[in-house]
Parts: sequence; C-alpha cells; structure tokens
Amino acid sequence: MPDRPPVFDDREDAVLTDAVAALVESERALAELEAARTVQFAAAMRVALERSKHRPRAVQEREMALRSIAAEIGVALRWNDRTVQRRLGEALQLVDDFPATLQALTEARISARHAAVIRDVGVELDDPVAREAFESRVIERAATDTVAGTRAFARAVAEELHPVSISERFAHAEQQRRVWIDDDVDGMARLGVLDGAAKVRAMYDRLTRQARAIRSVPQLESAGDGPDDVDDRRTTDQIRADLLCDLVLTGQPAIDPTAETLAGGLGAIRAHVSVVVPALTAAGASDRGASIDGQSPIDADTARRLLAGAPPAWDRVITHPVTGAVLAVDRYRPSPAIQRFVRARDVHCRFPGCRRPARACEIDHSEDHARGGPTARTNLACLCTRHHTLKTETAWTARQGPDGSIEWTSPLGRTVSDRPERYVAFVPEPDPPPF
Ligand SMILES: [Zn+2]
Repeated sequence: MPDRPPVFDDREDAVLTDAVAALVESERALAELEAARTVQFAAAMRVALERSKHRPRAVQEREMALRSIAAEIGVALRWNDRTVQRRLGEALQLVDDFPATLQALTEARISARHAAVIRDVGVELDDPVAREAFESRVIERAATDTVAGTRAFARAVAEELHPVSISERFAHAEQQRRVWIDDDVDGMARLGVLDGAAKVRAMYDRLTRQARAIRSVPQLESAGDGPDDVDDRRTTDQIRADLLCDLVLTGQPAIDPTAETLAGGLGAIRAHVSVVVPALTAAGASDRGASIDGQSPIDADTARRLLAGAPPAWDRVITHPVTGAVLAVDRYRPSPAIQRFVRARDVHCRFPGCRRPARACEIDHSEDHARGGPTARTNLACLCTRHHTLKTETAWTARQGPDGSIEWTSPLGRTVSDRPERYVAFVPEPDPPPF
C-alpha cells in the first residue's frame, strides 16, 4: 500500500503562515534599526577622531579620546567598552567604505549579519574601485543567500579582485597569531590557537598520529596488575586532549633563548593560577563554589586536591561560605600581603564591565598617591593597563568606598558604581558556618 501524504491541520497552517510573515517583518525592522544604529556609532566615532586631532602626541595618547567615548557609551548601554570601541570602528568603516552595503541594510534588502560579512571580507580590498565592484556583486548574493553562503561567495570574489597575492597577505595575517581561553560550563574551559594553517594542521596531525599509536597498543581482555598491562578505554579525542595538556604543561620549548640567563630555562616556568575554595568545601563539608581565579568554576575534588598539595606558584584563597568574602589568602612565594588581598578581592579589573583577570592587572591608587591617597586596601584597586591609562589620561575619575565599591564618573558626568566580586554564587548550606 503506498504511503499517503500526511494531512496537516488548517488552523496550524494558518498560525505558521502568520508566524513566518511576522518573522519576515521583524527581520526587516531589525535591519532598518541596525542601519540607524550604525549611523549613530559612526557619528560618535567621527567625534572621537576629531578630538584625537587635538592630542597630537603619542599614538597611545591620541587613542584616549576614543577610549573615553567608548567607555561613555558602554556605561550607558551596559556594554563592555572594548566591544563598543570595536563597533565604533566597524560602523565608521561601513558608512565610509561600504556605502552601498549600508544602503542595502537601510532598505532591509540584507540583514546586519550579511552586512558584517561584506565589511569583514571586503576590508581586505584597499582599492575603492575593486571594493565597489566587490560590494555590488556580494550584496546581490546576500539578498538571496544565507550568511554562511554569502561569506564563502564573498571570499571567492575578494580573492579574485585582490591585488595582493596570498603569500603577501599570509605574511601579514601571521602577525595576528595568538592563543586565548574561553570558559565553558561544568568545570570545563577551552583553549584556542590561531596560527598558520600548515602549523595548526601539523599540530593536529601529530596529536592524531600519537593518539592512534597509543590506541594500537594491544588491549588485554581484563587488565592485570603487571606494569605492562594496559586497559586504555580513552577515545581518540580524549587522548589528543590529554597529549596536548601533557606537552604544554610539562614540555620544554625546542628554542630557548633564556637557557643562559634563567635557571632551568623556559621549561622551569610553571603555570600560575589561584584556586579559590569556600571554607566548607575546603573542609569537605560541601561540594560547591570552588573556582580557578574566581572565574572558571571547578569541581570540589580537583579543588581539594589542589589545596592540599598546591605547588608553590598557586595562590590559595579561602572564602566565607555565606558572604563569599575573602577569609584568607596564602601563598608560599613572598609578596606584599596587601597586593594579594586586593587581587583576591577584585578578581578582575574594576572598570565597569571589564573582566581582565586581576593577575594581569596593575594595582592602582583610587585616590592618587601623589595627592595623599593612602596605600591601603580601601584605596587600592586592580585596573588593567587599558583602564588604568583611561583613568590617568582622561577626565574619568574613580572614588572608592570603605567596602571596596568604586564610583566612576564619566567626562559627561554619568556615574556608575562597581562593587567587588563576591565569590559566593550558591545557596548557603543549612548548617551555620563554624566561625
Ligand atoms: Zn579593564
């Protein structure tokens, strides 16, 4: 018997038809709004450029006007000021260099994400004539294709129009190589690396070959007690991850210019992170709230293991189980106690919205030391280089309260308060704390 086509309910069809029509309309409205927002960002960027002309000294100093304006908008929108600064630059680029794309966005022929792809890829083309040709071809495609499809098409068109060979561009792109970290949920985190495709592929290939070699070691039916008996049930993915950790944490770089000057060379440099553990978890009475650097939550067993045998370069931070306030910080390597307190309290840079870890920050006197501000924990705060410079070089000011909160005042007079991070992010245990 042949399959009969499924019968759909007419009312459901009507609901769906309406939903699709409404979504199309929303998408159109969003595109228009995005175009309007881009114009405003670009206007703010022009002000920043105009102001920076009056600060003609170092490049760093000329950027201060832009940073100050980005911070002003960031506080108003509750956005990270780095994100705002990037958007300001991108907006002006779209307005100045991609007028046809902005026009298509304004007319809702393409979406904001399509426009971003055109700008992202097209920015490689310096020649205005080539860029114009690129724009018109890609906009046409974007009006009928997905974002991913548009990106692939845009790359092909840019490659075709590009006056500079891929070798020259690679030499430039390679300058952007870097490694970064992203926190994930469930006590996990990701490590990313951007480098030449050949190198990255080779790294992956070597890990894969090593993992396959490990997996090809004959497995016993049931592992015995002998030293050669193996019962390795790890997947290739798991082995690749384990090998990479092993190589990075214990390996010795092949090229080591410090061999003469640094005891033990680069291989002697070990990871330095803080393990933060609530007192009850440290005592084994609870399993919650432990983290690395107050940023990446980790499981209690790992935390207790690190606490018991913390290598000399790890800070151990014990926090109050209810308030999350720092109870004690101890570290074997000698360092001023007050610095440790401030870094442990602040967790990250204290400019609103900035998450740069305290360990990468400078310790700033909220009230200038030169103006009589004391070197005390109530007048010290962690600021990353970017926001430290913003405070020193622009009209942004900071005032610290006795509880460590900081009131920031922008050049336009907007105030925003930043409180020190509380490590506690969980419901207190029913038993009263033992202190
Ligand atoms: Zn910062």
